[in-house]
Amino acid sequence: MTKTKSAFADGSLSRRSLLVRGASLVGILGVSACQKGPAFCNDTSGLSSDQQNTRATLGYEDSSDQPGKNCAKCSQYLAPPKMDQCGKCKVLPGAVHPNGYCRAFTPKA
Ligand code: SF4
Repeated sequence: MTKTKSAFADGSLSRRSLLVRGASLVGILGVSACQKGPAFCNDTSGLSSDQQNTRATLGYEDSSDQPGKNCAKCSQYLAPPKMDQCGKCKVLPGAVHPNGYCRAFTPKA
């Protein structure tokens, strides 16, 4: 009876191979995750001072620090036509990031 060598016959090589493939997969997933949304949506230069004050009063941030709460999950959110663009909001003037957050957050029904 003869034993056949498998790709995993050499333990160190198979571990290395798995590590390299795992690292590549993590890199690919990381790049994909970064390309999901726009870089930022916090340019208020085209807004009036009243509109800028509204954003400040509601505490808008481009990146939510509230677990499970962000603009994409808010009923006030108006999604953009493309994933790499900023969205809009029914109550907050200016551009809104899908991962953003403000105190007017209202969960989708
Ligand atoms: S109300 Fe606030 S949390 Fe909701 S979409 Fe508008 S900016 Fe985002």
